[in-house]
Amino acid sequence: MRLRNIKGAKEAVSQSPYCIMPSEGIKGNWNSVFLNDNPLHIEIGMGKGQFLIRLARQNPNVNYIGVERYESVLIRAVQKMENEPLQNIRFICMDAALLSEVFAPEEVFRIYLNFSDPWPKDRHAKRRLTSGTFLNLYQKILSPSGRIEFKTDNRNLFDFSLEEVKASGLKLCSFTYDLHHDDSMNAGNVMTEYEKKFSALGNPICKLIASR
Ligand code: SAH
Repeated sequence: MRLRNIKGAKEAVSQSPYCIMPSEGIKGNWNSVFLNDNPLHIEIGMGKGQFLIRLARQNPNVNYIGVERYESVLIRAVQKMENEPLQNIRFICMDAALLSEVFAPEEVFRIYLNFSDPWPKDRHAKRRLTSGTFLNLYQKILSPSGRIEFKTDNRNLFDFSLEEVKASGLKLCSFTYDLHHDDSMNAGNVMTEYEKKFSALGNPICKLIASR
């Protein structure tokens, strides 16, 4: 996501009722935010929130949490909530490396990773959100029937991710190198902002689903 320093983004994010601060002692207590026991689905690296907001609109009985590292990106999702308030979505501005500080073991039913930064240099492989280190983190917060869904147009990142999933002890349930031409995996697909952009350029979209 291109970064521009947006004036006041930090203040707006910290004051928005849609944004939960990592310091709020929320771990294990998400029910008290949403006031119900609906399952939690999260997107890590949600960008401006187009995908997650659409899912929240479609599925009022699921609680959605978007995790994004930069306030200057997250602010765009917060602004969308001003025009269309939704009860079942919240955002957290933080680094995914700290996920276990805000989610208790087995608290999350689904994790979406969409068009994660590829970090192409070998020496940065650990920063990829599908590296073994991150997959271990996800396994801890995922419920026993939980799953991870990952989409990208970056074939190198995808091939790396397939290997990391296989090595992690997660179960690889299904995958495709061309989602938009795979009828069964594409059924009900909600496109992300990057997915629209890259598929319009002719790039095939890869997707994998892994479960605990
Ligand atoms: N998911 C969106 C945006 C993809 S761009 C889409 O598909 O359209 C990747 C996003 O992940 C960027 O907004 C970036 O800031 C965020 N990101 C990258 N590393 C992160 C990390 N470690 N923790 C949280 N967010 C991260």
